[in-house]
Formats: sequence, structure tokens, C-alpha cells
Amino acid sequence: MKYALVTGGSRGIGRAVCLALVDLGYAILVNYKSNAASAEETLHAIREKGGQGELLAFDVADSEAVGQVLGGWIETHADDAIEVLINNAGIRQDNLMFWMTNEQWHEVLHTNLDSFFYVTKILLNGMLARKTGRIINIVSLSGIRGLPGQTNYSAAKAGVIGGTKALAQEVARRGVTVNAVAPGFIHTDMTQGLDEKTLAGQIPMKRFGKPEEVAAAVAFLASPQASYITGEVLCVSGGLS
Ligand code: NAP
Repeated sequence: MKYALVTGGSRGIGRAVCLALVDLGYAILVNYKSNAASAEETLHAIREKGGQGELLAFDVADSEAVGQVLGGWIETHADDAIEVLINNAGIRQDNLMFWMTNEQWHEVLHTNLDSFFYVTKILLNGMLARKTGRIINIVSLSGIRGLPGQTNYSAAKAGVIGGTKALAQEVARRGVTVNAVAPGFIHTDMTQGLDEKTLAGQIPMKRFGKPEEVAAAVAFLASPQASYITGEVLCVSGGLS
């Protein structure tokens, strides 16, 4: 069986990505941290579409948990292949640097950046051995242009962009592509509470995006049609740059 692993698949962009990848014929591994009810909803929606999936709860920021749960899954599924990895799980804890605590800095760096290393590394071996794989990292416009109040988040996402470009070159010869998708402002739990009216005014399309609009870009990069694209960052931001 061919699988796609979506970290943070329980809600928002991750859930939309899970559903889009069903259309490519993948069984979906839906990762989440603690929101089991939302993860069950994603699984239900996958099955309603005629797809297959299972839940895999672990904290992407915890290397031991990644090793135990994801590593354990790989060990017990010797005949299955995780061909697609979407590093989507992420958090933000905004504050001006002047007020930012060490905890806010480290939690955001651990969840958004360290996770890229932990989760990707454990899957890379199989992808390289099979000479096929798609790794897509969900970054942010914040990691390209920087946003005030988000030094932690901008630094983490910029770090993932650098990692994307470096890893793409390391593994290109082995049939594995590594790309990033950078959303602008997308309607999810993460953007609830933002001043949408003011922010939308700064976006050329004058609106926030939908998770499905990000998922379509991710699905393209995961598809056979994107076989010659690697090391790229695709913005899905309504023209905001
Ligand atoms: P969201 O609605 O807040 O959902 C976050 C997801 O990440 C949930 O599934 C959550 O799981 C999971 N998660 C958080 N911490 C985790 C951890 N330590 N281990 C495992 N899973 C964890 O966020 P979203 O808006 O869909 O964002 C998805 C990605 O897009 C993030 O990387 C975010 O930075 C990026 N992004 C979003 C926007 C936007 O406007 N929304 C813009 C640019 C980039 P639980 O349900 O268990 O909590």
C-alpha cells in the first residue's frame, strides 16, 4: 500500500491536504497532537470520499515520540511505503521580540523547524531506497518577507525554506523531490482573531484564502506532473508577496 503522511492533518490546511491526496490514490496517515475528535472527523471525511486512512498521534516536536510512533509504524509495515510526506503541523505564538519569552521562542522553533528534521529524517531512508518520494513543507509568507511580531515564526519558517533547498539538492538524484508551499492568510483556527478586514485590504485579491486552495498546490507538487520540480517555494497568497 502507498501512503501519504500529513502532519497536523486533524484540522485546517492539513485536513484539506489529506482530502486532496485521497484523489491521488494514497492511503492517508493523519498525524495530530492532541485533538483526537478533529482527527476522527478528518478520517471520516477521507472514508466518505472512498479513501483509506489511519490516525497517528504524536508530537512532531518530540524526537522520541516521532521515533516511537512513526518509527514503530514503519517497522510493522514492512510491505507498505510512505511515498509522500507533508510537513504541515505548525503553531504560532506571536509577540514583539522585546516581550518574547524563551518558551515562546523555543516552542515555535521546536514545532515548526525541529519537526522538519525529525519527521523527514525517519522517512528519508525508505524514500531513497525506493528511489521515489515527495516531501512538501508548509512554510509561510512570514518566512520569506518576515512579519513584525513573528520573529520566532518567521525564523522557523525561513529555516525550513533553507532546509528544503538544501535537502532537495542532496536527494534529487534518487528520485525524491523536496518543495515548500508558502500560504499567505488562510481561513483556519490559526488565523481566527486576526483583524481580517484590515489584513484583507493589503492582499491584492482582497480576501483570505481557503485551505482547499493551499491543498490544490500541495497535491500538484505531490503528483507525477511535478516530477521535475524540486527545491522550490510556491506562494499561495492571493498576490501578497
Ligand atoms: P491549525 O488550523 O491551527 O492546525 C494546526 C494543526 O497542526 C493541527 O492539526 C494540530 O494538531 C497540528 N499540530 C500543532 N502542533 C503539533 C505538534 N506539536 N505535533 C503534531 N501536530 C501538531 O493551523 P493551519 O492554519 O491549518 O496551519 C497549517 C500549517 O500552515 C502550519 O504549518 C502553519 O504555520 C502554516 N500556515 C498557515 C497559515 C494560515 O493563514 N492559516 C499561513 C501560513 C502558513 P491538533 O489538532 O492535535 O492540535
